[in-house]
Amino acid sequence: MEPLLQALQELAGWIVGESPWPDGSFSFFAWLLLPATLVMVLVIGLEFLFPAEKRRWSREHTLAATHFVLAGKVSIFTFITAPAMQWLWIRFELPSLHLDQALHPLAFMAVTLLVYSFIDYWAHRLLHTVPLLWHIHKIHHAPRQLAWGFTFQEHFAMTITSAPMLSISTLLLGTHLMPPWGSVYILVNYLQHANVSFRFGWLNYVFALPEIHRYHHERDRKYHDTNYSGGLLIWDHVFGTFVYDPARPARDFGIDEPLPLSWWQQQWLPLTHIARDVRASRVARALTGRADVKQIPGA
Ligand SMILES: [Zn+2]
Ligand SMILES: [Zn+2]
Repeated sequence: MEPLLQALQELAGWIVGESPWPDGSFSFFAWLLLPATLVMVLVIGLEFLFPAEKRRWSREHTLAATHFVLAGKVSIFTFITAPAMQWLWIRFELPSLHLDQALHPLAFMAVTLLVYSFIDYWAHRLLHTVPLLWHIHKIHHAPRQLAWGFTFQEHFAMTITSAPMLSISTLLLGTHLMPPWGSVYILVNYLQHANVSFRFGWLNYVFALPEIHRYHHERDRKYHDTNYSGGLLIWDHVFGTFVYDPARPARDFGIDEPLPLSWWQQQWLPLTHIARDVRASRVARALTGRADVKQIPGA
């Protein structure tokens, strides 16, 4: 019991305390909580002052707000999963290249940024290309309009898996997690769904800003399977999935499949869709002896 209590105390200390990177100056408060709050206030202000479209509050907004509160994407990632994973890695000396000790902090940041973006890119691309995973991700693509709050509209399975996956990818490189570019990611992430009228010019080729991410939310699959990056666009450029046409901004959002505007149903339905597809799969048919056998006429 005693070691468990001590471990919990250490973990709590990690979450609210200073981390030793670099030289004790890095903290979750300074690099994540504070920027996340400031960015949220900034983006809400921008949407209010410079909306791309004037809108009234709708049931879609209420649903997005419910996702924000219940899914806890930001809080789970920032205050629970990321620090808990880091604590686990350090306490149990789990495998890591410790590049944070071998490289200059800027070089370490660059390496982690590239790896993090790579994992983020491919995880998102697989969510679109693997049909079973799409059932989970389609919740994020369901809204027919975009605003900063829709950043948080996703299935709970995404919330609880993406944070450990992205944390592990950087912990394997070095145990000092979430270098300052974490704040840049938060800024881009909140901004990319925002209902703002700004044109970002050349920055659209570097970061997945609203004009870029809106193509990703288009109903038309030609645009919908592009611009997978959540922050830096480098891997979209490398793998040929970057789309930007200043003369043809994205405009028609959503997916063809109707989904109920209910948080519970949006959590439950994807699971039933996955179960249905697994039951109908060839493997399941073979395992259960339900393989389609063509009837020979007259046999
Ligand atoms: Zn997507
Ligand atoms: Zn999105």
